[in-house]
Amino acid sequence: MGMFDYVKYEADCFLCGQPIKEWQTKSAKDGEDLMRQLEVKDVAENFYDICPHCGAWNEYDVSKGKPRLKKQKELYEIERVNKEERKKAKEIKAAPKE
Ligand SMILES: [Zn+2]
Repeated sequence: MGMFDYVKYEADCFLCGQPIKEWQTKSAKDGEDLMRQLEVKDVAENFYDICPHCGAWNEYDVSKGKPRLKKQKELYEIERVNKEERKKAKEIKAAPKE
């Protein structure tokens, strides 16, 4: 269904330093994704958001109840792939139909 839960957490974007507050997760510990407001301790694996200021993908891994920012190198790689996919989708849309 593509549902998710929100995560109550405040952190600055790793790229531009602006605050991010609308974190989302699909890995709630009880397995349900129902647009609830969860605490970090209720998250099993990770949570993430796209920075509303610069568009960068920010993602935290949760280990033993503690959030850890994914390595910036990994995030840059995810961001690069996302950009390429968006570009590809645009090109497909722009291509003339047969
Ligand atoms: Zn940012």
